[in-house]
Amino acid sequence: MSFIEIFKNEKEKKGFLKIFLGAVFLLVLVLFLFWALVFYGIQNIPFVSFFVTALFLAIGTLTFLSVFSFLSTVYTGKSNCLSKKNRGILLKVYLPIMIFLGKFIARTRREIWRSFLSINNFLIEKELGKIPSKDCLLILPHCLQKSTCPLRLVQNVYACKGCGECCLKDIIAISKELSMPLILATGGTAARKAVKEHKPKLIFAVACERDLASGVQDSYPYPVYAILNERPFGDCLDTHVQIGNIQKALSLFVKEYKFL
Ligand code: SF4
Repeated sequence: MSFIEIFKNEKEKKGFLKIFLGAVFLLVLVLFLFWALVFYGIQNIPFVSFFVTALFLAIGTLTFLSVFSFLSTVYTGKSNCLSKKNRGILLKVYLPIMIFLGKFIARTRREIWRSFLSINNFLIEKELGKIPSKDCLLILPHCLQKSTCPLRLVQNVYACKGCGECCLKDIIAISKELSMPLILATGGTAARKAVKEHKPKLIFAVACERDLASGVQDSYPYPVYAILNERPFGDCLDTHVQIGNIQKALSLFVKEYKFL
């Protein structure tokens, strides 16, 4: 997959690049100002001022290398020696700055989260190979369950009777077929607890942009492959996910997966 294929169109790609480079510029500017302030205060102490300058130069070099590695990975589609760190740096350092900048350049948080999730998925594809299904974890939001369904599935999703009124029926069938752990989470706390228990090598998570972006951040260093849900009745009510999108994600990583 190349950089243009990560995004839906050229506009989305340019939008992401603009805001990412803006975040890099802001980071470098803050680092420089910080260095200038510190240096101004200690310039008369030669050894300390040399040490501080060397430290800031090292941070600047690391920033440059991480940006170069990230752009080279997403443009060429090829991993390099820093690729494994790209995901962590992107979500811990640049994402918060990008969301802050988004307020000033008329980009909604949702657009930024979407771009971030596309890049996150792309980097996970570069990072991971095939994984046994038992080492994966599929996390679904409880709002996928039909709101009129009387069953309580949060403790045990397999109690679903498979009536076909919501997409849980098909997802549970896939999970059983692959013996892949599956949970229906009521929120971030339940999802985090499940991750701690299972310690998966890869998490497939279905949710909205906001929950996926915070889930990806909270779960780091666990890799979370994000699958967006659909919300025809608004947030958190009778949401839906295309089974094809789940199958596509599984086919990328799960060893035992053959199109069912
Ligand atoms: S498929 Fe399962 S969860 Fe969905 S409405 Fe039917 S019984 Fe309830």
